[in-house]
Amino acid sequence: MNDITANRSPTMKLYPLFADLHGLPVLVVGGGGVARRKAEALLGAGAQVTVGAPRLDAELAAWAEVGTIRWQRGEFVPGWLDGMWLVIAATDERELNAAVAAAASERRLFANVVDDAAHSRFHVPAVVDRSPLVVAVSTAGAAPALARRVRETLERVLDHGLGALVALAQRQRARIVRRHENLADRRAFYDWLHDGPVLPLLRAARGQEAEQVLLAALQGDGPPPRKGSVTLVGAGPGHPGLLTLQALRALNEADVVLHDQLVGEAILAMVRRDAERIDVGKRCGGRQVAQEQIHRLMLAHAREGRRVVRLKGGDPFVFGRGGEELAFLRRHGITCEVVPGVTAAVACAAFAGIPLTQRGQAQSVCLLTAHGKAGSDMPDLQSLGQPGQTLAVYMGVERIDALTARLLAHGRAADTPVAIVENGSLPQQRVIAGVLAELPRLVREHAVGSPALLIVGEVAACATSQAWFGELVDARAGQPVAEPMAELA
Ligand code: SAH
Repeated sequence: MNDITANRSPTMKLYPLFADLHGLPVLVVGGGGVARRKAEALLGAGAQVTVGAPRLDAELAAWAEVGTIRWQRGEFVPGWLDGMWLVIAATDERELNAAVAAAASERRLFANVVDDAAHSRFHVPAVVDRSPLVVAVSTAGAAPALARRVRETLERVLDHGLGALVALAQRQRARIVRRHENLADRRAFYDWLHDGPVLPLLRAARGQEAEQVLLAALQGDGPPPRKGSVTLVGAGPGHPGLLTLQALRALNEADVVLHDQLVGEAILAMVRRDAERIDVGKRCGGRQVAQEQIHRLMLAHAREGRRVVRLKGGDPFVFGRGGEELAFLRRHGITCEVVPGVTAAVACAAFAGIPLTQRGQAQSVCLLTAHGKAGSDMPDLQSLGQPGQTLAVYMGVERIDALTARLLAHGRAADTPVAIVENGSLPQQRVIAGVLAELPRLVREHAVGSPALLIVGEVAACATSQAWFGELVDARAGQPVAEPMAELA
């Protein structure tokens, strides 16, 4: 027999479908929190919601008051189903829920019973909402926890700009179809639309520009050549969990990744498998790849139509030269995005249990480096001598003597608490807590390596009682507080 339906046992437990409920009456039975969440989702889809229950929780009652929902007051009777298109039973009484489902079945009405697959004629899936793009996940009630996990994974990978892209494609659909009547051409155009410059523009809140780019592309012959782009991505301090979603997506889509030495393997492991990786932090013959060379590489790859990710430790705009790179690329007309990262100061403080600001102790935070542009001096530390502010010093270890001397000379007290956070957020993290006058000795005695961040200020004392990650060396205990040495003062 040719009939494909013959002798077929069903393989799909549920038939997936998306229902248009706009303006249609639907019923939710139950007046508690579960019923409220169901009502809310149905309202979000434009349905006319009636909630049937003897009592409503405060929020549902408020909605009924203003007419957002209709309240059918009392105990359930099958008559409530008259005129309904769907019903959800969301009371905490199993028998009542089953009775609602049975009454619905009798009327050939689709019913869902919350957390009761056996009595449900339709299921409500776990949803990833990038409206108008909606992804629904179901295990037919077999493993709701797994469905939730799949949903979480999709939440991570699906760009938040996709909804706007789908809406734009929908608005221009007729034009696109008219321009590309041939299916293969149309596919090529949609590939361009999905992978090209439109989505980054939508992500950059440049909706009009995105639409113009699309319209211009429709004027041309065939899909426009793919334009390259550069995304400056902050990888955070090293812990892969501190990567942002946007950073993860950029790594997943990259064709080429130019990364610094500070970016560890755990993060590089998230780069798209077949992307080319270039380590521009590598010291060749004792010298790093020069900044100009990095500029040239980014430009060359982007001009060849590739998606370039420039991956930096921490945040690209905090002692990361990201500003220079962005200026250079924009000058050359390259499409750019910047994805911020968790900067070392913020991460190290958190992982050492040190609040950077604290009522009564620190009202401001200063991020500074003791390592200026070649030949230049350290920053003006005049104001930094004041108590009540936290200093987070990047690249401070190499110039620890000069830095300490300056801070003391400008009036910071010798017993100001300090914390050295080495390898912040990484498994080998070490926090050394002490006082300002002792800083150079601590760095030497404990052979502090790179990378390390110094936190100077009253709040740094919190490390001794609040550090919660990695190793803590309390160098304050029993240490006499040294007076600033004469030559430093
Ligand atoms: N753009 C980076 C900073 C780069 S400068 C950011 O925003 O964090 C390099 C300096 O950052 C290092 O010398 C060190 O002082 C600090 N640093 C970066 N990662 C660190 C880490 N995991 N632990 C401690 N310090 C870190």
